[in-house]
This record gives sequence, C-alpha cells and structure tokens, in this order.
Amino acid sequence: MSRYVLALDQGTTSSRALLIDHAGRTVAIAQAEFTQRFPSPGWVEHDADEIWASQLATIGEVLARAGATARDVLAIGITNQRETTVLWDRATGKPVAPAIVWQDRRTADACARLKADGHEALVAATTGLRLDPYFSATKLGWLLDNVAGARRRAEAGELAFGTIDSWLIYNLTRGARHVTDPSNASRTLLLDLRTACWSEPMLRLFGIPAACLPGIVPSSLGVSAAPLAIVDGLRIPITGIAGDQQAALFGQACFEPGMAKNTYGTGCFLLMNTGSAPLASTHELLSTLAWDVGGRRYALEGSVFSGGAVIQWLRDGLGIIKSASEVEALAASVPDTGGVGLVPAFTGLGAPYWDPYARGTIVGLTRGSTRAHIARAALESIALQSADVLLAMQADAGRPLLELKVDGGASRNDLLMQFQADVLGVPVVRPLVTETTALGAAFLAGLGAGFWASEAELAALVGIERRFEPGRDRGWALEHLAEWRRALERARGWAH
Ligand code: ADP
Repeated sequence: MSRYVLALDQGTTSSRALLIDHAGRTVAIAQAEFTQRFPSPGWVEHDADEIWASQLATIGEVLARAGATARDVLAIGITNQRETTVLWDRATGKPVAPAIVWQDRRTADACARLKADGHEALVAATTGLRLDPYFSATKLGWLLDNVAGARRRAEAGELAFGTIDSWLIYNLTRGARHVTDPSNASRTLLLDLRTACWSEPMLRLFGIPAACLPGIVPSSLGVSAAPLAIVDGLRIPITGIAGDQQAALFGQACFEPGMAKNTYGTGCFLLMNTGSAPLASTHELLSTLAWDVGGRRYALEGSVFSGGAVIQWLRDGLGIIKSASEVEALAASVPDTGGVGLVPAFTGLGAPYWDPYARGTIVGLTRGSTRAHIARAALESIALQSADVLLAMQADAGRPLLELKVDGGASRNDLLMQFQADVLGVPVVRPLVTETTALGAAFLAGLGAGFWASEAELAALVGIERRFEPGRDRGWALEHLAEWRRALERARGWAH
C-alpha cells in the first residue's frame, strides 16, 4: 500500500512539493525559488521551463527527505498560481515565449478598449469575472499577436495554451495529456461558468482559436481517467488539480455553502462556497468555479491588495518594527488606535471598492499619537478590508457567514485574529496545518485515488489550532466599521 499523496504547489515565487500521509500530516516539504522577470514597467514574466525544472527538482528532494521513493506515492495533486499564461509548441514541448504572469498589466489597454466597446456586461455574465489584465485571455491574445507566426500556428493546432497546471501536467506526462480543471479554466475569461465548457462567444471576443485550448477534466479524478505522471520510470496518476485559492478553500474543508476562508498573505484572498450554481455578484465580487468533485461547486471571491504588505511597510517603509512578528506587541501596548485610521491603499483598492486611484492614508493624528497607534491602525486595516469583502459576500449570497477559516502568514497574529472575530461578529478558526493550499491539492488527489473516502473524512482531518470567539457587541463593531468608511472616503480618488 502506497503511503503518501504528493502535493505539488506551484506558486508565484517558488515551487514546492509536500508528502502528505493518511492522517493529513505533512511528512516532508521541499521548495525551490525561480526567477522573476520584469522586462518593462508593469510586465512580469516567468520562464516556464525554469518553473518545470524547479518543480521537478522538488519532487526528487521531497522523496529523499522522507526516505521514500516514487513507489510510496499513490497519487499526485497539483495546485498552482492562477491565470499565468503559457503557450508552447506541441511538437517540441518548448514554450514559444516567456510565461505572462497574473500580475502583468501589459494588456490594460486591450481591456480598456473592450470595456469602451461595451463588452463588460456579457463577459461578467458569461465568466463571472471582470475585464482586467489579471485574467488569461488577453495575455494569450497578446502572445498570439506578438510572437511571430503564433496565431497561424495556433489555428493550425501546432501550439498549446495552458495555465500552469496544464503546463506541469503536459511535462509530467511527457506530452501525453493537455488538460486543465474547471477551477483553473474559470480564471481565463474563456470559460462559460454555467456549463463549465469553453465559451464560443468569449473565444470570438478575445480572438482565441479553440485548437490551442486544453481539455477540461474534473478537479478530482478516478485513477482510470487520470493523467499519468512519469516519475523515476513509474506511472503515478494525477488525480487532483485546482488553482491555489480554490485548493485552499478545499484544504480548509469549506465543503458546504456559506463556508468561507481568508488567506492573510501579502494580500488577502477571500473565498466563500456558494453551492452548486454560480452566483452573479451585485457587490463587485468575482464569481468563480471552486471545484468539480462529483459535481460542480462555485465560490464568490474577493481580494484585498495590501494585507500583510502593510506590516512589511511598517518594517521597511516606516522602520517602526524590525520584524513582522514585532507588530503584535507594539499594537497591544495601546488599548485602541486613539482615533488614528490607516488605509493601506498603496496600489489602489481591490474588492469591493475597486479604486485604482486610492492611495495610502493616515487620518486622525493628534499630538498624542504614537507609533503604537499607527501599528494598531495598520493591523486593524487588514481585518477591516477583509470585513468589507465578507459583508459583500454575505449580501450576495443572502446568507450569514457562520465562521471564518483563516490561513497565511499574518493569520499567526492573535491580536489581528481576535479583532477580525470582534468586527465580524463570527468565530475565526485557525487550523493546525496552515499549508492549506497544498493540503487541498492532496485532498483532491487522495479523494480521487481512494486514499480517503469522503469529504466528511477529510473534514475530520483538519485539526483546529485555535478558535477566536467574538468578544464585542455589534454596536462596537458597527462603530468601528463606520469610522473605517470615513477613513476610506479620504483615501479614495487621491491619485490622478
Ligand atoms: P505570501 O504567500 O503572500 O508571500 P505569507 O502567507 O508568507 O504571504 O505571509 C507573509 C505576510 O504576512 C507578510 O506580508 C508579512 O508582513 C505578514 N506577517 C507575517 N507575520 C506576521 C505577524 N506576526 N503579524 C502580522 N503580519 C505578519
């Protein structure tokens, strides 16, 4: 009996591999960073070959660390940075250009033109997304238009497009399979959210030939249908595939409608399970496919651009702390912010405000204000931005949030987690294993391969490290939210 599921977590700055055992424990981890390229302002590229090489290296390393071999691996689960776009030659398996990363803004004008031509409503209704360079379609369009001969070759079926999941699977299977899963496909602007098939009208709108698209397979597959990875000469089924944020939702066992998670990293990524049909947001959120595991599940998604980044700024910009972990003691040294409000709109504001012209603001300073007040206001701003996204989700979903599952680097901060529970009025739940993205990929793969039997069994594997119960009344919370709104107004529309 194989002992492990191998989770491949291909992120924006590093590739990681984790071996997960039957109890859901991480037995070993290996990680390899790769090069970030910024060839022009607003451009961000990766070398897809380097991504593959780094991911492959972590497989060998994680097995060695655990004293295991490929024989000990029952199945592979893949999770990945989303939207990043690769175009490669089917004959040689070589990328025809650098991968265009999700952060890349080179197609902002193309999106603005499509918006001006009145296409946004149809795009949103079909895909659940917005016309933004963030998503894959205009990136792929750019490659087809700017790489010599690419459009003609793509139309002739000579080139393959994929997000990073497809690219890894293509390489792991030595070119045998060109597939993606619905959670990744739903980030391209090319998927019809309702049918989970490629959308003809979207392909026409973005000028994408169907011949270059991957096939779509479920996020969790049985062994007989799974792509077979060749590792050390052995064939191992790839039975789990999902984009990173959806994988984290799965890894947090948010299986029921209304369950939500927030990842507190550089930015914050919030997702709420909305059940078996897509929900059109009327509160400026994205609607996305969560996974297809014996049926499709959908989610609402909202991102906060500057989450943990505001703590980095306290450290590197202001210099009032030496490390991120110091912020908790400094903020806890005062009972409140003393009327100071901080809006960390360093790069504008994301969901649900969508204001690219907002800029960072500190309001309410008096002669009594100290760095402790500013630190506390910075910490609270992470929770207040997240609260606004969750309030929008509740309004869209028409159901109250019951609890919030949390992960990511800044979720280690107890003061922040308690404030989040207080301001939301719901418990905040921090799991034992905070590698929820990789765990989600392992869960999807293990479910498909029969390593685990059911979602109920998986939910029981997710241990709780700490639960933060709300300790304030709603009046207190509403006052804080109202004051936050007043600070927000002062930050909006500042840059021109
Ligand atoms: P990413 O995956 O985006 O790099 P991580 O999940 O590794 O992010 O989290 C790193 C972020 O968490 C940083 O922005 C850092 O400022 C923040 N952070 C780390 N520790 C703490 C802490 N104790 N309190 C608040 N923020 C923290």
